[in-house]
Amino acid sequence: MKIGTPKEIFEGEARVAMTPESALQLQKLGHDCVVETGAGAAAGFDDASYKAAGVEVVKTAAALWKAADVVAKVRAPNDAELKRLRADQTLISFFNPAGNTVGMEAAAKKGATVIAMEMIPRISRAQKMDALSSMANIAGYRAVIEAGNNFGRFFTGQITAAGKVPPAKVLVVGAGVAGLAAIGTSTSLGAITYAFDVRPEVAEQVESMGAEFVYLDFEEEQQDGAATGGYASVSSPEFREAQLAKFRELAPEVDIVITTALIPNREAPELWTEDMVKAMKPGSVIVDLAAEKGGNCKLTVADEKIVTDNGVTIIGYTDFPSRMATQASTLYATNIRHLMTDLTPEKDGVINHDMEDDVIRGATVTHAKEITFPPPPPKIA
Ligand code: NAD
Repeated sequence: MKIGTPKEIFEGEARVAMTPESALQLQKLGHDCVVETGAGAAAGFDDASYKAAGVEVVKTAAALWKAADVVAKVRAPNDAELKRLRADQTLISFFNPAGNTVGMEAAAKKGATVIAMEMIPRISRAQKMDALSSMANIAGYRAVIEAGNNFGRFFTGQITAAGKVPPAKVLVVGAGVAGLAAIGTSTSLGAITYAFDVRPEVAEQVESMGAEFVYLDFEEEQQDGAATGGYASVSSPEFREAQLAKFRELAPEVDIVITTALIPNREAPELWTEDMVKAMKPGSVIVDLAAEKGGNCKLTVADEKIVTDNGVTIIGYTDFPSRMATQASTLYATNIRHLMTDLTPEKDGVINHDMEDDVIRGATVTHAKEITFPPPPPKIA
């Protein structure tokens, strides 16, 4: 089969779904590879590096979509790309199926198969294909770097001839994949790091990374993640009040707040209120990784950086992985390559789209002229 990667057309998107290295691995599965000219340029991979890896380079998106049996890309296809999809072609991409019925209908009508990367089941066997996690990891790291870039002081404390410098205090709200990456980055830069999550089972992980888990003065336990399949659900009003009271206490003390709190299929919970922003010191920085889902901070503006009247910088960028396009592309292309390995069990360049396989079934949102989203729950953990 021929695996093809077009240049991303979403404005500002710098990632690419195939790298020269992943192309070499795809060829070992018996596939041929093709990219549109310039597909990897914004991520640091030029046409020559693809050619050196045995990849065909074609001049236009039209030629790419025509040549490829499997199209691998990053962003959900737009209308023009959906029009290019054809029967018996497979598209592997982020697709936002829950909010993209129109896209699924268009693909199913054509008889194309769509594998949505955000639907890869989060089971151990599929971790190597879990693009949500690989991108969240980058976002968490980059959030701290972005905060540091907008913060006028060191992270680590220092005693220098010119005076004593106190360490910065960082609070990370939400300790999922992105939150844990932010915690690791913050502690490794030497900041005093606090972290809060509604799931108490992450406390040990937080503490093992050198951060302090924030407990609430609340008689009931924090939410039991095991009861919700590892994900958070909406907190009770009493719990939420206790959480906000704790954050109000911390607001004047912390220099940097990184918020990552999300609940699947809902708007982000609002956890950092206007009065908390007002209580922060001038020069403090908030990075709101939940900006795309409405933000955890009341004042966040998606895709923008604002500075409040009291001198607090609030960053609501939604493109953190794209800001590290080389690294993000390398990891995303590897996620796709692993998926292709499962789709090519005989390593003979022939795809076996096995709808009995939990991972493939879970991520397939259109197949054989049907919409196959949402999938049944996975049989294995
Ligand atoms: P996410 O991006 O959906 O949410 C981020 C974090 O926000 C979560 O830790 C959540 O508990 C937290 N949160 C929600 N509401 C909050 C609130 N009010 N206050 C504070 N924190 C709040 O999470 P994620 O990174 O996708 O991970 C969620 C779960 O999925 C975890 O249990 C994780 O271990 C699991 N996971 C499993 C796999 C795998 O097995 N392959 C891969 C990735 C994640």
